[in-house]
Amino acid sequence: MRHKILLVFVSLWFAVSSTTAAASAWPLIPAITDQDWALPSTVVIIDVGHGGIDGGTSSGTTLEKDINLAIAKKLYLLLRSQGVAAVMNRTGDYALSDENRWHISRSRHRKDLSQRRQLTEEIDSELLVSLHVNWSKKPSQRGPLVLHQQSGESALLAFCIQDSLNRQQNTTAIPREGKTFYLLKRVQQPAVIVEMGFISSDSDRSMLTDPKGQKEVAAAIASGIRQYKWITR
Ligand SMILES: [Zn+2]
Repeated sequence: MRHKILLVFVSLWFAVSSTTAAASAWPLIPAITDQDWALPSTVVIIDVGHGGIDGGTSSGTTLEKDINLAIAKKLYLLLRSQGVAAVMNRTGDYALSDENRWHISRSRHRKDLSQRRQLTEEIDSELLVSLHVNWSKKPSQRGPLVLHQQSGESALLAFCIQDSLNRQQNTTAIPREGKTFYLLKRVQQPAVIVEMGFISSDSDRSMLTDPKGQKEVAAAIASGIRQYKWITR
């Protein structure tokens, strides 16, 4: 009898907790009101740098594209669990240029970039965070660096994320304007490029390839985004 009661209690608890967890972590179908018929909407677009034959920067067999994807997935789940709607533009190892049939260009790189920008026009979002990993010929160079657009909102978003990553990685870098980056020039909403650390640094690379380190980086970026949202609300 005791067992039966316990079983009922446990299954009830499981039913309640799993529905609430599912509701907060996976609000995949948001309620649609009359105003938002035109565009699917979200808050954060997570641009997952590189993919497919474009591995990004590397160190030995460690490729930037894999680090970007692993941290993007963690960031996505964290933001969702904190009630911040997010989408990723790449969920596996493929090049975005493969999906782009409308951009008439022989340059795979241009097609890839235009595909990333196009998504920001098709999904109504507040901001875009592009995840990357840095490289330097100086092995001692380490730490995060956030690049922003000319606008004040983008600079503020960069400052919030940089500050949070600096605390997490015990660094003091200051965000910079990324004047030459196509994505920053062409995306309308506040956008930043987050160089999460250096693949060429032993300590950064072990943090960026370790699930625990990846989770800490993702948590720092999520915290920066929430800080920005709190200031601009
Ligand atoms: Zn990159």
